[in-house]
Amino acid sequence: MQDIKELSLKELEDKLLSWGSPKYHAKQIFNWIYRKGAFEFNSMSDLPQALRATLADSFYILGMELAEFQKSTDGTAKFLFQLKDNNLIEAVSIPAGERVTGCISSQVGCKFACGFCASALKGFKRNLSAGEILDEVLYLKNNSRKEPLTHIVFMGTGEPLDNYENVLKAIRVINSPHAFNIGARRITISTCGIIPGIKKLQDEDLQVELSISLHAASDRLRSEIMPVNKKYPLAELISCCHEYIAKTNRQITFECILIKGLNADKESAQKLAALLKDLRLAKVNLIAANPIPELKIMPPGKTEIDSFKEHLFKAGINVTLRRERGQDISAACGQLRLKHEKNQL
Ligand code: SF4
Repeated sequence: MQDIKELSLKELEDKLLSWGSPKYHAKQIFNWIYRKGAFEFNSMSDLPQALRATLADSFYILGMELAEFQKSTDGTAKFLFQLKDNNLIEAVSIPAGERVTGCISSQVGCKFACGFCASALKGFKRNLSAGEILDEVLYLKNNSRKEPLTHIVFMGTGEPLDNYENVLKAIRVINSPHAFNIGARRITISTCGIIPGIKKLQDEDLQVELSISLHAASDRLRSEIMPVNKKYPLAELISCCHEYIAKTNRQITFECILIKGLNADKESAQKLAALLKDLRLAKVNLIAANPIPELKIMPPGKTEIDSFKEHLFKAGINVTLRRERGQDISAACGQLRLKHEKNQL
């Protein structure tokens, strides 16, 4: 049995033709799965009965189960999913006014071991398939029927550019007018700075948003908190960003998690402003660290955060401060999975 969500619309059309069925049924099947949320082929009432039976013999629709669900007082909802091989992944749905953002995972665990990230504590297990990524989106969409899912960010567990082909395949379905129909500009790939992936992305015919986790503006500190910096150091990363912006004319958002006693002081703000000052179309998103007791990570105080932001602003950098959501439900990536796995011990 195969996950039907592994097939693009074209691949599904080809499959139907190979069975002697008209290819227009592929759009109907996409409509049932991605727009109407059907979990069974038998409920696809405008398909011939024989085709429904053939589909059910060859494919399944949902490849994972909900293992745990938490809802915060601010409306943020966190999902823990159990995959067919019993691995666990997380996704979060974040409502804000008319906007509902789905924050999804791209891998089970992560290779990149950023020092502030609970996702990396258990190491890397495997890539998610395109179908599993789409499962996350289906669950989030079906959970927010009142306010439709409007945005997708690849900011959950895993490095999306380290699972490039599957992530791009899933994005094309998320973006497709026959499936989720979420505009490419409402889909964000968040990377720790995988240069070959950024170079590949700039040649795609997709206007997705790119966000880079920066967190420090010196190679010494960045390599300490993000080991990936040893492979892709700042000078090469920023040069790659210049090339990306020149080629795509799209803005890059640089994420900077502020951690008490580490990277939230005035000198760090000055270095960050100097690093980004010549980059056209750059924006900095400051985020106060979520407390992670296992890693002894705490957020700085409000005064320190405000003065960091003020310094960037005065240096002419486009800067915003992201409000942390779902603090009461372990909303930082990897935290729910860690808690769940501890409870199983
Ligand atoms: S922040 Fe992202 S890239 Fe870094 S360890 Fe966590 S999941 Fe991996």
